[in-house]
Amino acid sequence: MDVTRTVDVLVIGAGPAGLAAAIAAREDGIGSLLVLERENAPGGILRQCIHNGFGLHRFKEELTGPEYAQRDIDRAVELGIEIRCGVTVLSVGADRTVTCVSPEGFQRLCAKAIVLAMGCRERPRGALGTPGTRPAGIYSAGTAQKFVNLMGLMPGRRCVILGSGDIGLIMARRMTLQGAKVLACVELMPYSSGLNRNIVQCLQDYNIPLYLSHTVTDIHGRERLTGVTVAKVDENRRPIPGTEIEFDCDTLLLSVGLIPENELTRGAGAEISPATSGAVVSDSLETTVPGIFACGNVLHVHDLVDHVSNESARAGHAAAAYARSGERAAEYWPVLDGDGVRGTVPQRIGKGGGSEVSLMFRPAGVFRKAACVVRCGGREIARQRAPIFTPGEMAVVRLPKETVAALDGPVTVEIERS
Ligand SMILES: Cc1cc2nc3c(=O)[nH]c(=O)nc-3n(C[C@H](O)[C@H](O)[C@H](O)COP(=O)(O)OP(=O)(O)OC[C@H]3O[C@@H](n4cnc5c(N)ncnc54)[C@H](O)[C@@H]3O)c2cc1C
Repeated sequence: MDVTRTVDVLVIGAGPAGLAAAIAAREDGIGSLLVLERENAPGGILRQCIHNGFGLHRFKEELTGPEYAQRDIDRAVELGIEIRCGVTVLSVGADRTVTCVSPEGFQRLCAKAIVLAMGCRERPRGALGTPGTRPAGIYSAGTAQKFVNLMGLMPGRRCVILGSGDIGLIMARRMTLQGAKVLACVELMPYSSGLNRNIVQCLQDYNIPLYLSHTVTDIHGRERLTGVTVAKVDENRRPIPGTEIEFDCDTLLLSVGLIPENELTRGAGAEISPATSGAVVSDSLETTVPGIFACGNVLHVHDLVDHVSNESARAGHAAAAYARSGERAAEYWPVLDGDGVRGTVPQRIGKGGGSEVSLMFRPAGVFRKAACVVRCGGREIARQRAPIFTPGEMAVVRLPKETVAALDGPVTVEIERS
């Protein structure tokens, strides 16, 4: 198929990540800029998140998801950014050619720089291996959220939530407010993977019990779900016989993890990190394929959209610079996960770079009164204390530009317990 259009910067996905990247690229003077979005409207997952709590860091206000998204959509419109909705990107080549499909047919485009901002999807039931029948009434929490918030449909009346990620917690409250009875939120780990504020505001405020170190061990019902069996698990996450509790419910919502949507990234030949399931990127958020950048949930799963927007603006600036000059770092210092740390992004820092770098990671467990310590060649270069580090909340450590300029070896990020 012939290339029908060439642009300087192409952004895939018009969620908060894609919008922030496109805005940054346009503010840097990129005129030839195109955003492709497979849904019929921009805004990404925020369109269905009608609860508030978005934008506290960025706007110092509590916005709903659609309100937050609208601010970036308005800015994009003001800047005259072309956003084509209803266009699904099917493949991205290492030569930065892109194949996409829309109601008008297939099209092949080419870009000097590409920003990948495709977000993530939810882990389905099939990934869990829970025994039992396959009745109706089992949904991922995000699907249920879409039904309730966008389509005005109620998934069920008596509900159990498996997994205490943020979407599950938000949906526990949402289902309750819509008149359903939420019987329990069941979490395999001894701690929740959601934000603490969501545990308080979505479970405790509505007297919904949280069963930590428990899981669903059986699913009952033929046509429609009639109940689930929940059991306590041991330290190896194996169900303990004799601890079973039966719940009589017609709905099971799964909030058991998010998976970055990296089929296109893999297809382009970019290296994927097993820790984040996203691309391996440098401090300019460039993947291992020259001129292809990644940001937002497709890169690593974020808890706060404010972090998504900040990160993605950096990707947009970097993509704009690459589109102009085609220059990139020749060599990199690796960034490694140390004790208590999982999935630090970026995974490498360009040698000789002189810009501030934000290192973001998920703590590998719950650590109280601990510090995050960053070392370079055994030398401590940054330290950040926190009352608690938990896997539910992304940790961010900033390396000032002088520190980045002085790097002389691999960088290690670890949690130090006091
Ligand atoms: C239920 C829920 C509750 C949340 N609550 C909060 C909260 O209270 N506060 C907060 O700060 N954050 C919250 N978040 C997090 C925040 O919403 C996300 O971090 C943010 O939306 C991620 O932005 P993104 O642009 O990376 O991904 P998305 O918003 O998922 O956008 C990705 C876009 O890419 C498009 N796309 C994907 N593949 C293709 C393709 N092949 N071709 C074309 N387009 C494509 C998708 O259609 C989508 O529009 C919540 C998230 C969820 C899911």
